[in-house]
Amino acid sequence: MIEFCCGIPELLKGGFTEQASTGIDVYSIRQPLGVCAGITPFNFPTMVPMWMWAPALACGNTFVLKPSEKDPTASIYTAELLKEAGVPDGVFNVVHGDKVAVDAILEHPGIASVSFVGSTPIARYVYETGTSHGKRVQALGGAKNHMIVLPDADIDMAADAAVSAGYGSAGERCMAVSMLVAVGDAGDELVSAIKERLPKVKVGDGMSPDAEMGPLVTREHRDKVASYIDKGREAGATVVTDGRENAPDGGGFFLGVTLLDDVKPEMDVYKDEIFGPVLGVTRVDTYDEAVRLVNENPYGNGVAIFTRDGGVARQFQFDVNVGMVGINVPIPVPVAYYSFGGWKNSLFGDLHVYGPEGIQFYTRGKVVTSRWPDPATSKVDLGFPQTR
Ligand code: NAD
Repeated sequence: MIEFCCGIPELLKGGFTEQASTGIDVYSIRQPLGVCAGITPFNFPTMVPMWMWAPALACGNTFVLKPSEKDPTASIYTAELLKEAGVPDGVFNVVHGDKVAVDAILEHPGIASVSFVGSTPIARYVYETGTSHGKRVQALGGAKNHMIVLPDADIDMAADAAVSAGYGSAGERCMAVSMLVAVGDAGDELVSAIKERLPKVKVGDGMSPDAEMGPLVTREHRDKVASYIDKGREAGATVVTDGRENAPDGGGFFLGVTLLDDVKPEMDVYKDEIFGPVLGVTRVDTYDEAVRLVNENPYGNGVAIFTRDGGVARQFQFDVNVGMVGINVPIPVPVAYYSFGGWKNSLFGDLHVYGPEGIQFYTRGKVVTSRWPDPATSKVDLGFPQTR
């Protein structure tokens, strides 16, 4: 993010048209909005705010960050580092709080824009309230990301990807894969390859170097995620691995890895964003059915397809109604010089976050049409006629 923003002179360059009409030049410039605000979720408490404040400051704005009340410390550390780096007081600001602070931001007449990342109901609320107060708003919401595995896929590659994308960060990331869609006869092989890998996933203290999966953010969230295991079983899904049985003993809000097979689209475990280490498998007969499932889903953040067939993968990238697409890549988070954003209920607003669209979001365009008196009438002696 920071490296990309260091190219700000290039990124803010406008256009120029010489002689749009006789003696008339037209050019565009981009200017900052003023005070921009960011409201962020608990996961990635350093990175997600940086998606916002880095381009906002580079574009010449000041920034007010309202981080998640669940993990506020990283934002203070960021503020300290920026101060140490010489950013003047008042340019980067942190305000702690919950809904009260959010509402104050959304209604404040001095704030020009709001960037939000969090769950879909709050994203919708922030978008509707912020825009009704005349603000520019980009509000990124929740997700239910599918990974389609075609029968010709490299199953080992797909199983490795499913395990790291389903359980990495304990499933608490908006780009986590939560549903595997196994097409044709890919299902049995895929489920057994994943099942084989699960005992090797090390769950433990996030500060320990060998832990691959830490605890969940709160006890309430852990309990809610765990409740989906029984919900799935009661609705007819097969519990291949139960995360309550492989969680570490002792304190902490740990839950181990859960794999549910035979999940159907009408089940809550399919429909809800669980946001934890619970991976579901749905089996379908055809590619068309798989794409239809993804396209009918109300979320449209990320999606992946695993196949060896380049033609099918190419077609898929055009067919699918999702903002970020991976081809044999399970978590297709765009690098900093592309922008990040989903479709449908995963984004309210027009512009994606960071990258070129972030620069557009944090600036307003202005077009100047200019004419100067004919140099022939100039009082400065130019030594030769200058009329054009
Ligand atoms: P959340 O929606 O509960 O909270 C996000 C922010 O909104 C926090 O700052 C919180 O204080 C504030 N907030 C919470 N309730 C509010 C209310 N009633 N009124 C006003 N403000 C309120 O989300 P979370 O649990 O912190 O984070 C997880 C969610 O974020 C998941 O749904 C995940 O998919 C989503 N997320 C999305 C992306 C993305 O890029 N699309 C990235 C990360 C996380």
